[in-house]
Amino acid sequence: MVDFSFTEEQEIIRSTLREWCNKNLPLEKIREWDTKGEIPQSIVKGMANLGLLIMTAPEEHGGLGADWVTACIVAEELGYADISIALPVLWLVESSWGYAVDKHCSERVREDVIRKAIKGDAFIGIASTESSGGSDVAGFRSTARKEGDKWILNGEKMYISGTEEAKNWGGGYFVNARTSPPPPGAPHRGLTGFYLPMNSAGVEINKRFDDMGRMAISTGGFVMKNVELPEDYLLGEVDKGFYLTMEGFDCARILIAAVCLGTAKRVLELGMDYLKERRAFGRPIGKFEGLQFELADDWAELEALRSLTFRTAWMMDKRYKEKRFTPLEVAQMISACKLKTPHFAFDVCKHVMLWFGAYGYTKECPVEMGLRGIMSYCIGAEGATNIQRVVIARELLGKDYIAYK
Ligand SMILES: Cc1cc2nc3c(=O)[nH]c(=O)nc-3n(C[C@H](O)[C@H](O)[C@H](O)COP(=O)(O)OP(=O)(O)OC[C@H]3O[C@@H](n4cnc5c(N)ncnc54)[C@H](O)[C@@H]3O)c2cc1C
Repeated sequence: MVDFSFTEEQEIIRSTLREWCNKNLPLEKIREWDTKGEIPQSIVKGMANLGLLIMTAPEEHGGLGADWVTACIVAEELGYADISIALPVLWLVESSWGYAVDKHCSERVREDVIRKAIKGDAFIGIASTESSGGSDVAGFRSTARKEGDKWILNGEKMYISGTEEAKNWGGGYFVNARTSPPPPGAPHRGLTGFYLPMNSAGVEINKRFDDMGRMAISTGGFVMKNVELPEDYLLGEVDKGFYLTMEGFDCARILIAAVCLGTAKRVLELGMDYLKERRAFGRPIGKFEGLQFELADDWAELEALRSLTFRTAWMMDKRYKEKRFTPLEVAQMISACKLKTPHFAFDVCKHVMLWFGAYGYTKECPVEMGLRGIMSYCIGAEGATNIQRVVIARELLGKDYIAYK
């Protein structure tokens, strides 16, 4: 027997959050943040008060112990409210990487950042990508070496979300650094994960990008020059950071899928209102089948992708709680969600912009914020589109068919 309904508690979380978003995140406010380039910290504190920050962390660590289906409901609602996706990005980066760090960190790191981030008093993110590339982990140049009881980190991280927030609010990053040369044929081995506080001596932000979208959260780069980290800032095991990174990516990618679907749903609703309201040739433009059919196709795809995404979140919960499904089975499904949802949401924004005609090309119309924001996930934040295809094809054909091995 298959039951596709959400629990009563999940429905309450959705309606409470929708109410909070209607009050605090109207589209005029989103436009204001998009123009100013910042999210008010009071909003982050508001989310903390609702228990939404790193909500999947266990209760004993300050989280709600929420499951991933519930986290996806929250992601969908935030994507629905903030179609620029700046706030959803901030929330999901913290939720996924905060969860992964919390799972593998020492009590000291938990005190230093996780508990603070849950209260909205610090930011935690992922700093994996380097200026030489993000997809090819074997190409990472950042290094960590052990000296006495300390780790010394050197290198540069680039295209990193939240660098200004981490500097201004406190907090830091999950970083990857090479601790051993990779054995032949296994480029992913020899990387180690660390928690890097942004206020460490030797860390310097050297770049803030002028992004095309999600303007209210910063993207930047930083250098690490002989940064000393204590032993208990090591995450998981030495040389096994790749696996931890993949765990964080899985969590981030499923939340991205739900955010993209929330934004697509909202934009489609904005479009539907316009189809009824705008008139051409003496009738509402929604009477024209050319537009109706596009709407119907988009709605059908939205429902199909929602089923895929929530089923995958359910699989994640089964994996974590009951060890049902293998990590690779779940990763394949998550990559399917990350492969499809950003491009679908982008197409919806494009369709609806066209329905809006000239108005759609102006900043008086909110939809262009969605198009710009969603593009970041088409390009590759939390993993390029082709890398999702690589993950899926690897599971379908077998490891022997990985092109770069
Ligand atoms: C707005 C934004 C925010 C970001 N925030 C963060 C962050 O917070 N932390 C972080 O660590 N990174 C972040 N990133 C970086 C992101 O993770 C990388 O963009 C992504 O991993 C891809 O790396 P790259 O951009 O270097 O592209 P590359 O790896 O150089 O790839 C370039 C192109 O080649 C393709 N390609 C690469 N390998 C293959 C292959 N094997 N087969 C087929 N095609 C391939 C890719 O799909 C892509 O189209 C962010 C990116 C953006 C756009």
